[in-house]
Amino acid sequence: MTYVFEPPPQASAAVAGSDARFPVHRIYCVGRNYEAHIREMGFEPEREPPFFFQKPSDAVVDNGATIPYASDTENLQFEAELVLAIGKGGRDIAIAEALDHVYGYAVGIDFTRRDRQFEARDRGRPWEPGKSFDQSAPMAAIHSASEVGHLQAGRIHLSVNGAMKQDADLSQLIWKTPEIISILSRSWLLAPGDLIFTGTPAGVGSVTPGDEITVAVEGLEPLKVRIGPPA
Ligand code: MN
Repeated sequence: MTYVFEPPPQASAAVAGSDARFPVHRIYCVGRNYEAHIREMGFEPEREPPFFFQKPSDAVVDNGATIPYASDTENLQFEAELVLAIGKGGRDIAIAEALDHVYGYAVGIDFTRRDRQFEARDRGRPWEPGKSFDQSAPMAAIHSASEVGHLQAGRIHLSVNGAMKQDADLSQLIWKTPEIISILSRSWLLAPGDLIFTGTPAGVGSVTPGDEITVAVEGLEPLKVRIGPPA
């Protein structure tokens, strides 16, 4: 196989306690998956089917990075999220078997251009400008399920410059991780290397250059990133 130019590097994420990295295939994200966050976004929680959007696989950023303030926004916001790392692919996966497809878990942030997202929402346009931009998916190291088990509950919290902004529990997820995997696999063929950002609790807010953001989920390596000046 030859290419007309050098292919881009494989996007990847760190694995806790290992030099080997997790090759990232696709990044799926779940919208509106904690009731209090749905309310703060101006909607009433209903158990509607979950909906999904994607980020480009090369939006992943390693723990400890300084991320330039995103272009094309006046309102860059954080969303603390539990990230599922898929180790075994499949389609039409049954809920009862869904967790067999999980390689592990990590802490992540779904960075959002809130102004662009709301414009898209209000005009019925695609969400990509609001969600699917460069360096919008920082994440800490992935812990294998064989190490930490399958996370169904546990505190998830985010602070900016030491001030608590989001503080919730994974048990408050409207759609649980096996349901997310099962429903997602009806629309897409899941593959090893897929990541799923599972949605954010209430308390999302804006960042400015110089901010230091820390996110933690009980049992996982915390994530720390700094917002730098615009690129
Ligand atoms: Mn999100």
